[in-house]
Amino acid sequence: MSGLVIIGASYAGVQAALTARDEGYSAPIRIVADETALPYQRPPLSKAFLLGTASEDSLVLRDDKFFRDRGIDLVLGVAVAAIDREARTVGLANSDRMPFDKLVIATGSRARRLDVPGANLPGVLTLRTLADAHHLKAELGALSRLVVIGGGFIGLEVAASASKLGKTVAVIETAPRLLGRAVSPAVSQALLDLHRSHGVDIRLDDSVTAIERSASGSLTVICTSGARLEGDRVLVGVGGVPNAELAAMAGLPCGNGIIVDDHGRTADPDIFAAGDCSDHHNAFIGRRIRLESVQHAQDQGKTVGAAIAGRPAPYMSVPRFWSDQYDAKLQIVGLSEGADLQVIRGRPADGAFSVFAYRGPRLVAVDSINRPGEQLLARRLLAAAVSPTPTQVADPAFDLKALLAGPAAERARP
Ligand SMILES: Cc1cc2nc3c(=O)[nH]c(=O)nc-3n(C[C@H](O)[C@H](O)[C@H](O)COP(=O)(O)OP(=O)(O)OC[C@H]3O[C@@H](n4cnc5c(N)ncnc54)[C@H](O)[C@@H]3O)c2cc1C
Repeated sequence: MSGLVIIGASYAGVQAALTARDEGYSAPIRIVADETALPYQRPPLSKAFLLGTASEDSLVLRDDKFFRDRGIDLVLGVAVAAIDREARTVGLANSDRMPFDKLVIATGSRARRLDVPGANLPGVLTLRTLADAHHLKAELGALSRLVVIGGGFIGLEVAASASKLGKTVAVIETAPRLLGRAVSPAVSQALLDLHRSHGVDIRLDDSVTAIERSASGSLTVICTSGARLEGDRVLVGVGGVPNAELAAMAGLPCGNGIIVDDHGRTADPDIFAAGDCSDHHNAFIGRRIRLESVQHAQDQGKTVGAAIAGRPAPYMSVPRFWSDQYDAKLQIVGLSEGADLQVIRGRPADGAFSVFAYRGPRLVAVDSINRPGEQLLARRLLAAAVSPTPTQVADPAFDLKALLAGPAAERARP
């Protein structure tokens, strides 16, 4: 029996393997990954690892023995170059072939490159892998000025870490507010204030037209506004691109990622995809979407593993994200797209508050800064489809937990 082959050894791939095993899949399982490191946590790369408060060892998700004990083979340091659906094999970059009965594509995403002159100059960096993080960390050690292109999660986290390390940091963001697609305006404003209070020069509503390098090696980022920002290095954080090419070359339909159904199954019933590389129908928002988060990669990996083990259960998770910048813990549950009302609970001036976002009467997302308890409660409210009224939310004395009594409590169970 050829068994299960998984491409990519990160959150989605590892979780698919573990769930398949736990749910009774007894054939061989092999995870093939192009990176050489043991599966590791990616979020600390822009935070604790960059700051030097987390070592490389502490990032490891599971060690060798853990996989061996479960009969899961890790094949590290070799990329899958092609999928042959007819022969039911994957071709590796070292020319080996590996047969499969079931295949999971968990290839994640990669950093989007900027499309401007100078984008490929030495010193223009991106952050996606442990190797990138080692490189950025070493470079940060020696420099004093960093220009960050992109006010999204990775750009802002690197800006916060670099600023904490005493570097002079500037951030350029095309949109009129930070994290515009992910958080409410009040949270964008709080983050803007926070970064500026740490001396980070944030430029909104501006774009990069070119990057130039001087003879001494310093870089100048030239903006549409005419601004010229000087840095020793430039970090580009302008989003991710799904690694969907293997699937597309094998004739599997792709949109913004590899198109899968509620069980993570592609158009080929024996081939699944999960995590950052998948374009899935999300029951919570009622449309197709590609998500980039640890929660999504793990939960969809679980869904796929269960389907492969013959215990299918559709993917139903409410999306969740988090980000750490300075002492602010940002947490988001739900998706606020199309929200027409935002209600603040708590006081932004205190550095701890939540924003409840509504589409019509329905609560669709809650963003919190330093309110972990409220975020847990929000998860339960959204899972139970319970929408407090805006008046209840705005009243700090109103006990939102009380809304979860009775039948709602059943539905809110994680
Ligand atoms: C710096 C950083 C900080 C982040 N912080 C947060 C955070 O705070 N919170 C949060 O929720 N999310 C965060 N994320 C996002 C989160 O890490 C991703 O959503 C998550 O890693 C996705 O997991 P995945 O398994 O789908 O793919 P990935 O983690 O991208 O892993 C895919 C793996 O497949 C490998 N691969 C690709 N192609 C091939 C091939 N052909 N052959 C073999 N192997 C291949 C890749 O090299 C990679 O190792 C962060 C991401 C980064 C980069």
